[in-house]
Amino acid sequence: MTDVQKNWAGNYTYSAVRLHRPTTIGQVQEIVSRSNKLRALGSRHSFNDIADSQEDLISLEHLNQVITLDRENHTVTIEGGVKYGPLCEYLHREGFALHNLASLPHISVAGACATGTHGSGNGNGNLATAVVALEVVTANGDVVTLSRDQHADQFQGAVVGLGGLGVVTKLTLKVEPTFEMRQTLYENLALSELTQHFDEITDSAYSVSLFTDWQNAIFNQVWLKQRITNSVTETATANFFGATPATRDLHPIGALSAENCTEQMGIPGVWYRRLPHFKMEFTPSSGEELQTEYLIPRQHAVAAIEAVNQIRGQIAPLLKISEIRTIAADSLWLSPCYGQPYIALHFTWKMDWEAVRQLLPLLEEQLAPFQARPHWGKLFTMPPKQVQVLYERLSNFQDLLRHYDPQGKFRNAFLDTYIFGTD
Ligand SMILES: Cc1cc2nc3c(=O)[nH]c(=O)nc-3n(C[C@H](O)[C@H](O)[C@H](O)COP(=O)(O)OP(=O)(O)OC[C@H]3O[C@@H](n4cnc5c(N)ncnc54)[C@H](O)[C@@H]3O)c2cc1C
Repeated sequence: MTDVQKNWAGNYTYSAVRLHRPTTIGQVQEIVSRSNKLRALGSRHSFNDIADSQEDLISLEHLNQVITLDRENHTVTIEGGVKYGPLCEYLHREGFALHNLASLPHISVAGACATGTHGSGNGNGNLATAVVALEVVTANGDVVTLSRDQHADQFQGAVVGLGGLGVVTKLTLKVEPTFEMRQTLYENLALSELTQHFDEITDSAYSVSLFTDWQNAIFNQVWLKQRITNSVTETATANFFGATPATRDLHPIGALSAENCTEQMGIPGVWYRRLPHFKMEFTPSSGEELQTEYLIPRQHAVAAIEAVNQIRGQIAPLLKISEIRTIAADSLWLSPCYGQPYIALHFTWKMDWEAVRQLLPLLEEQLAPFQARPHWGKLFTMPPKQVQVLYERLSNFQDLLRHYDPQGKFRNAFLDTYIFGTD
C-alpha cells in the first residue's frame, strides 16, 4: 500500500498490503475469489481499525455511478462506491431527496450504512434505514442480492453489516420528493433548560443538534434544521428556552470560521445544503481531530447528559466540541439504534490519543448505567463483552456472517474482537 495508508483523520495507518481499485463487478468478484483476507474500504472516515485487513483492501471509488432512479416506487439504486455529496446533487436535480444526512456529505453511502451512521431528528432513523436492497459480493465471489421485502431476516442483519458479509456493490435507497430547509441557530442554552425540556427542544425542528464544549453547564449552540414549504426567510424567535438567536453564521467550534459550514440564519436552501453541518467543497469539522460517540436509549437521555456534566472538568481540556443528537428506532440487528429511540453523545477530541485513551474509561463508566454503546466507526475503550451484551441480535449476526463467509475472509481484528471475541 503506497498511496492510501491512513484514514481521513490520519490517526490510523492501515496494515493491509494491497489496495485494489476495480472498475467492474466482475473484477470485484475476481479479487474476492483470489484473496484470503479482504475488507472493503469506503471513504476512510472511520477513526478505528474497522475497515482494515491483514492482506487486501478493495476500494469501490471507481464504481461510483447512479444505476437507476425508480420514480414510481421512489427508490434509487447506486454503485457501492457512491458518496453522499454527488448522490444528493443528482437526486435533487431529478426532484428527489434522502430523509437525512450525517454532519458531512463526504462519506460513502456503503461505508456510512455499514456502521449505522446517523444524522439527527426524533422522527429520523439512521442513514441505513433508507436502504431497501443491497447487492453483496460474498466470500466465494458470488453476487447475492438481499431486499427488505424478500429476505426480511437476513436483510435486517446485512444492512449495518460492519463490512463482514462481503463487498457491497449496489445499494437501493428509498427517496422522497425534494424539499427545502432552513437552519436557525441559537446560542447559550442552559443545561438546566435542556434537561427540563429535552423532549420539547429536540422536537422543535426536523433535525436538532446541541453543541457544548463542556466548559460550563451551557450548550453553546443549538442548530435547528426545519423543513419548509414556503420560501420566506424566517426570523428566529427572540428567546428559545432562554437561548438567544445567533446573529451570524457559526462553526460548531466557536473559534473557527463558519466558511465550511452550511448556510444558516434561516435562509431557505435545498435539503442537502442544510442537513449536513459541513459543505461538500470544504474540509468537514476541524480536520485535525479524533472522534468518540456513544448511543444511549432515549429514556436515559437526561440522566446520561447529567452524568457527563459531572466529569466535564476532565472532558473539557481535551475537547474541541461535543454534540447531542436524537435518532428514531430501527430494526437493523447491529444498528446502535435497534428497537428503541436513541440519543447520540458525540465528542470531537483534540488530536491527543494518549490523553483521550486515558479519559475514555471514565466516560464509559459514567455512561455504563445507561447501556451506552459506542459508534462502530469511532474510538472507544469498552471491553468487547460490554459491547456484545448490548446487541440482542448478536448471535443471529454471527450466524449470518458464518453463513456467507464460513472461512472468515472478511473477518479482521475489529470483528474478531467485538463480534466474535470471547474475552
Ligand atoms: C469529520 C467526520 C464527521 C462524521 N460525522 C458523522 C455523523 O454525523 N454521524 C455519524 O454517525 N458518523 C459520523 N462520522 C463517522 C462516519 O460516518 C463513519 O465512520 C462511516 O462509517 C464512514 O464511512 P466511510 O465511507 O468513510 O467508510 P470507512 O470508514 O472507509 O469504512 C467503514 C466500514 O464500512 C465498510 N465498508 C465500506 N465500504 C463498503 C462496501 N462497499 N462494502 C462493504 N463494506 C464496506 C468497511 O469495511 C468498514 O467496516 C464522521 C466521521 C468524520 C471523519
